[in-house]
Amino acid sequence: MNQATVPMESSVTFDIDRIRRDFPILSREVNGRPLVYLDNGATSQKPRSVIDTIDRYYTDENANIHRGVHHLSQVATQAYEDARETIARWINAPASRQVLFTRGTTEAINLVASSWGRDVLFPGDEMVVSTMEHHSNIVPWQMICEERCAKLKVIPMSGNGELDMDAFEGLLTERTRLVSVAHVSNTLGTINPVREIIARAHEAGALVLLDGAQALPHMRIDVQELGADFYAFSGHKVFGPTGVGILYGREELLDSMPPYQGGGDMIEKVTFERTTYNTLPHKFEAGTPNIVGGIGLAAAIDYVSAMDQAAFMAHEKDLLDYATSALCDIPGLGIVGTAADKASVISFNLEGQHPFDVGTLLDQQGVAVRTGHHCTQPLMDYYGIPGTVRASFAFYNSRADVDALVNAIRRAADMLG
Ligand code: PMP
Repeated sequence: MNQATVPMESSVTFDIDRIRRDFPILSREVNGRPLVYLDNGATSQKPRSVIDTIDRYYTDENANIHRGVHHLSQVATQAYEDARETIARWINAPASRQVLFTRGTTEAINLVASSWGRDVLFPGDEMVVSTMEHHSNIVPWQMICEERCAKLKVIPMSGNGELDMDAFEGLLTERTRLVSVAHVSNTLGTINPVREIIARAHEAGALVLLDGAQALPHMRIDVQELGADFYAFSGHKVFGPTGVGILYGREELLDSMPPYQGGGDMIEKVTFERTTYNTLPHKFEAGTPNIVGGIGLAAAIDYVSAMDQAAFMAHEKDLLDYATSALCDIPGLGIVGTAADKASVISFNLEGQHPFDVGTLLDQQGVAVRTGHHCTQPLMDYYGIPGTVRASFAFYNSRADVDALVNAIRRAADMLG
């Protein structure tokens, strides 16, 4: 998303009223007020097509996959593997076997840490993450680094929420094995310079994992063009169901990695003497997966793929600019995270007020925002604050939602005195 000025009115090709009608929950009320849903960073709402797909699957197609000769098992298997193809096409993976189903971003990162990390990290090796990471992209690495006696280094950042790229360069050594950073920060909205990060890490001989949990709701990506070695994301943040996510990986890496969970589906042949493992992607998918989750995620991707990408990104940019300037006019409100390149996420605090109190008063007015540390405690420590109030926008939000947020904050500020 570049920072070129876009017209302050949304693109005429982006019919926000029609889009909002596709999301049934957006027409409900909360606390006697129309719902203003600005907690998309935590989870997004689902279009009718996803809800219908889930309903249809359980009504007409439910069976376990990969193991049955009967009709329904074959229908379910086909639907699940078709979903994998849809997801692979969406991120432009060279082959669908490089697209592994997981429970979400968290499990995808844990998979790499457990499988790749246990195999490749040796005492004295190094890993790099950044100050603004979600706990899901810190703790799995801390655990494996402790186990393998490897060192975890942290890229520092500036007060406006941008990574210090010179310092990053200085952290890279011949012992750096992997750099794992957020494509987009969930708390600050910063879009990190991932192409530069990948180029510098690769030059140093290190691999790169991108945590794309907050990127894909706002932009399309092409894993081949990006050149990341691993890319992780969650279905529920891209308008699909909870409990499903994706790990994309370069084929030779995934091929060389040992399985990290044992069970059904991931085997080729089991005897008590010796077990051999299945090929990709099944080697990493032990047990009955979230079948309807994968199928529902593909339905969500079909929905977003049909949208005019340029229009939806311009619309979100308009929301970000409109909200940023309106919030800046509120006395005592400070925005946390003002990077030049941002997705439509705004964290803020009201001077002297705890974020929970502000969030509670907003909820009473029907405005759903997230408050707290957003699973980024080291980032909160960096700023020396307990948390923030975070408004995170999706393409189905409108300028009217921003107006409602601003009015609700003004009223909350008055009430809190
Ligand atoms: N990384 C980032 C940047 C996130 O925003 C989140 C979710 N808040 C996660 C990882 C974890 O995602 P999940 O809980 O879906 O596994």
